[in-house]
Amino acid sequence: MINGYEASKGIGIGIAVILQSSDVSGSDSMPGITSDILSGVKPGSVIVARVLTPAAISMLRDIKPAAIVCETGGLTSHSALVAKSFGIPAVYGAIGATDIIHEGDTVIVDGIRGFVYERPDNSLVEEFTARKREFIKERTDLERFRGMKTKMADGSSAEILCNVGDVVGVMNAIDNGAEGIGLYRTENYFSGMKNAPTEDEQTANYSRVARAMEGFEVVIRTLDIGGDKRLPFMPQEHEENPFLGFRAIRYSLGNKPFFSTQLRAILRSAASGNVSVLIPMVTCVEEIRELRALIQELCSDMRDEGAVFNDDMKIGVMVETPAAAEISDLLAGECDFFSIGTNDLVQYTMCADRGDGRLSYLQSVTQPPVLRLIERTIKNGLSAGIPVSVCGEAASDPEIIPVLAGFGCRRFSVDPLSVPEVRRTLSEWTLKEAEELAMEIMKMPSDHEIRQRLKSALKHGKA
Ligand code: PEP
Ligand code: MG
Repeated sequence: MINGYEASKGIGIGIAVILQSSDVSGSDSMPGITSDILSGVKPGSVIVARVLTPAAISMLRDIKPAAIVCETGGLTSHSALVAKSFGIPAVYGAIGATDIIHEGDTVIVDGIRGFVYERPDNSLVEEFTARKREFIKERTDLERFRGMKTKMADGSSAEILCNVGDVVGVMNAIDNGAEGIGLYRTENYFSGMKNAPTEDEQTANYSRVARAMEGFEVVIRTLDIGGDKRLPFMPQEHEENPFLGFRAIRYSLGNKPFFSTQLRAILRSAASGNVSVLIPMVTCVEEIRELRALIQELCSDMRDEGAVFNDDMKIGVMVETPAAAEISDLLAGECDFFSIGTNDLVQYTMCADRGDGRLSYLQSVTQPPVLRLIERTIKNGLSAGIPVSVCGEAASDPEIIPVLAGFGCRRFSVDPLSVPEVRRTLSEWTLKEAEELAMEIMKMPSDHEIRQRLKSALKHGKA
């Protein structure tokens, strides 16, 4: 048995295919899983690899694997998030998997508990076939929450929006009963293109999303590249510490012609629906002021050109660095809404690379410093009168949801497949209970104790 992390829920049983990427060396590598390597892989296989990039997972989607086992990567690595959005059961951080598992072995992947069983005997296969059936039944039972309004047990209302990266994701969001798109990751949309999309192409794409959501809010995040996200047609210099480097808003402000194209497209799409813009990895007020000045300049040009656009588009800040959380009272005065990115907030607060599977004890949203920053950001946002949502993976974790609600969060942006479970979780808690739980755990000194308490408070097993 190999121990890893439950990166994407579900159980997969199948025959192993070991993927050897052509280049996995160096911190800056883009391991090359190519379509040639994948051409012989059959549907229903269990894919075992040392490294898988988000792009490789996207290529795997069409093969419909039974499951994925990856040696590297944490729970919120972008590769794991893509596997989760496709509903492929996955265990990440399964160190040694490519040595222990051999091509052609039968493998059971338990993406609920984070275990991989190589060469299981028949009784184990039978046991996991039954567990898989149970998991599917649980998912089917949750379907009744798809079309409902989101309400807590005392009738307090909340909203569940979705995190998506392409138009297929938007369709999944609608199918699962999303009340908006809380995070459109434009770098995922860009990664499906051969070249950087033009202003017209981007406008068409964003407008399509806005129209599909029929008046529900659509939050388009400007390009968030750098760190573990790179695009072949957006040149980036080698960096010693890419997560601390020229990424996200820093990259965009440093490449004004490119950034202007994207902002113009978002402003134009805002004329066809309820579109707002979200800025990733903000660390200071100056970044938002520079962005606002650029938007004003673009609006003035577009007015002169007679373009159709919305010059009153809302501007949101992603609070995903400790710096932004610390100055959330100041940032609240400079923007229209906050979206808390817990994945990066954990990484930057705990100084623990989210892609490094060895650091799981630090990559936890229930580490006290992370919880304090989240609580403070929600309170500062709400007292300034701006909406606050949470869009990191914490927003779909049934153990964390009542805590976020107890801090005052009413907007949860999650992957489309998680919508019914998040809606059920909220329906099980009154606001008072959630507030009491949040207060109780904020007095606890360690991640371990907090997790134990939250597990014992669960009203339902996790689906
Ligand atoms: C986050 O950091 O929590 C987030 C939602 O953004 P991403 O996962 O794309 O970095
Ligand atoms: Mg982020």
